[in-house]
Amino acid sequence: MHDQLVTQLRSELDGYQIECDEERADLLVSYLELVIEKNKVLNLTRITTPHDAVTLHLVDSLLPLCMKGLGLTSKSSLLDMGTGAGFPGVPLMVLTGARATLVDSVGKKVAAVNEFLSALSLDTGMGVHGRLEDLAKQSPRSQSHVVARAVAKCNVLIEYATPFLKRDGILIIEKGRPDETELREGENAARLCGLALVSRETFDLPRDLGHREILLYQKVREPKVKLPRRNGLARTNPLGC
Ligand code: SAM
Repeated sequence: MHDQLVTQLRSELDGYQIECDEERADLLVSYLELVIEKNKVLNLTRITTPHDAVTLHLVDSLLPLCMKGLGLTSKSSLLDMGTGAGFPGVPLMVLTGARATLVDSVGKKVAAVNEFLSALSLDTGMGVHGRLEDLAKQSPRSQSHVVARAVAKCNVLIEYATPFLKRDGILIIEKGRPDETELREGENAARLCGLALVSRETFDLPRDLGHREILLYQKVREPKVKLPRRNGLARTNPLGC
């Protein structure tokens, strides 16, 4: 089964011209297997069929690598907001060599991510337990890249990400099908936070497993609002509405 999953992963990534050698594909599948095993005792994911998980967790996490202007390399610092079991931060870290900070507010999930990293000797990544609003105060302007998948609406993610980003840093948002209201509110929040939408692309996943939209925002100027705001305000009184 492991070898079949490695072959599936390489072939699906090849369909998007994303390069992944045998060694890294093997590492990514080993990581996925650890997630699926851990999921038996800790609720990390609903997707447990290995072939679907290759597509919906690994390939899906790696789609930003198709985006022009991403600039995610081994010199980058990447923060994954609401990483859960480590998606998309761990796969992006494995393929690019970026240093990754994998943040979640649920301590058990972060402990599981740190177990996976240690089992696979992935020493460029670190799980960090905490709320994004608190961590932003401790590490302002520390990241060249921030990413989020399935965590909140665009305007909330933009507000969370802005304090972490260095000047010219990139926020990567992975979405299913955001509606026009979400996109408009995202644009409004981006204006207030000093971010500009620099790229937006849509993708279909293999085997009709879904539609993805990826948005890249760049921090082009200083925010017009003082960030981070008080805990919880990003969700209860979101910017841009
Ligand atoms: N990104 C992962 C994925 O795509 O599989 C997990 C998505 S899960 C639906 C959302 C995660 O975001 C949860 O694990 C939750 O604990 C975390 N989260 C939500 N708000 C957060 C916050 N303010 N600070 C830190 N983590 C947060």
